[in-house]
Amino acid sequence: MSKQVRVRFAPSPTGPLHIGGVRTALFNYLFAKKNNGIFFLRIEDTDQNRFVPGAEEYIMEALEWLGIAPDETIGKNEKFGPYKQSERKHLYKQYADELINSGNAYYAFDTAEALDSHRKQHEEQGKTFIYNWHNREKLDTSLVISLEETAIRIASGEDYVIRFKTPVNETLNLQDIIRGEVKFETNLLDDKVLFKSDGMPTYHLANIVDDHLMETSHVIRGEEWLPSMPLHVLLYRAFGWEAPEFAHLPLIMKPVGNGKLSKRDGDKMGFPVFPLDWKTAEGISSGYREKGFLPEAVVNFLALLGWNDGTEKELFSLEELENKFDLNRVHKAGAKFDPEKNKWFNHQYLVKQNDEDLAKVFAPIVSEKEVSVSENNLIRIVGLIKERANFVSEFWDLSDFFFVAPTSYDEKAKKNWKAETPALMQELISVLSEITDFSSMNIETIVKDWMTKNEIGMGKVMQPFRLSLVGALKGPHLFDIVELIGKEQTIKRIEKAIDTL
Ligand code: GLU
Repeated sequence: MSKQVRVRFAPSPTGPLHIGGVRTALFNYLFAKKNNGIFFLRIEDTDQNRFVPGAEEYIMEALEWLGIAPDETIGKNEKFGPYKQSERKHLYKQYADELINSGNAYYAFDTAEALDSHRKQHEEQGKTFIYNWHNREKLDTSLVISLEETAIRIASGEDYVIRFKTPVNETLNLQDIIRGEVKFETNLLDDKVLFKSDGMPTYHLANIVDDHLMETSHVIRGEEWLPSMPLHVLLYRAFGWEAPEFAHLPLIMKPVGNGKLSKRDGDKMGFPVFPLDWKTAEGISSGYREKGFLPEAVVNFLALLGWNDGTEKELFSLEELENKFDLNRVHKAGAKFDPEKNKWFNHQYLVKQNDEDLAKVFAPIVSEKEVSVSENNLIRIVGLIKERANFVSEFWDLSDFFFVAPTSYDEKAKKNWKAETPALMQELISVLSEITDFSSMNIETIVKDWMTKNEIGMGKVMQPFRLSLVGALKGPHLFDIVELIGKEQTIKRIEKAIDTL
């Protein structure tokens, strides 16, 4: 690749960024890193009707959180700024004019009512009205009136749009990095609006002009933009500009059934489709961050939505992805979203975190329960239970017995409490009270010695012992629990079990 790689993520700030958009951003980011290129973020807000306050900040925050912040964007290395289309408004008109002058575009004066009635008439005959080569000379356009008349109508303040004059009778054989050759018949395209008399360009014009001015080398975006590709390529040609290369990413599919992943799937099955929480007057749409996902896990599962490295490997750090990512290994078939697998990914990264860091996240949850624990003990507890958790939010249920004595005992486990158990437990209390070095290993040695010497079966002691401390037959290594809750508490819990059971 001779030219510098410059790729962009170009979202419209119409709401929270969908997880599919995040995947597009990630693939752009990875492609840039892999090729020592630049990843930039451009906000495409030409459609002011769909503008949603806060969406732009949300997008930036999401990318920051995931560790895939752009190299250039609003307020950061603005080499080709501004990076927000509404602030580039003054730029686009001259390009629309250029296309008019070169015969690649024309003015159309049809009112909304006129277009509506064309649509209705067509429908009545079972046809669809398309503004294209077939009928553009019969409509109210500058193609059928003189230059003077056009100028007069515009000067008088009449509303107009500028439409692209799609070439006729051409088959476009275009190249997509992921899809290979894609063919389009120009006769099937409509003459898209490029510019409106309110002074705003449409997405198509602004997108092409900006990709050109910002020296975009590759356009990597979702499959839903594939139908726009012929128009975009024709626009580059009309301007006499070199077109970037295109790569249209596969759709992200529902976990079950067919079709695109939607917010409704997430609501129904209880998983987020947004990176961060999004709050509106109607409520909160939950995000991966607030659900307790680690950014590394989200990056990892998103990377595998449509890509793999050719092996069975599933765990990739961002750094590995930056080295390995290859657009040629992205497949075109839709990628199934698997919320259960995503939890598995989170587990993998959770257990890799060090216990000190996890304890810091767990500490506020513990203090809300109004129990006290030393920092050191909390760190040890976290180390003992994290293997069993997918999220820090599960820590309390996995470890509550470290902090509070059981108030009830698991019904099924109770059958391990036999007639001879109370006497054995009494003996155990005496053994425990003699121990001075109350550390897990030492307690274990002494208790096991006592059992061996007296020929007491393991199960006879260990299960009732665990039941007394935990209230069930679950939890980490028993003697670790004993050490952490301490001698006094251990004995108290056994006494209570003797009284209750
Ligand atoms: N603004 C478009 C979007 O919202 C950008 C599409 C493209 O990447 O060309 O996705």
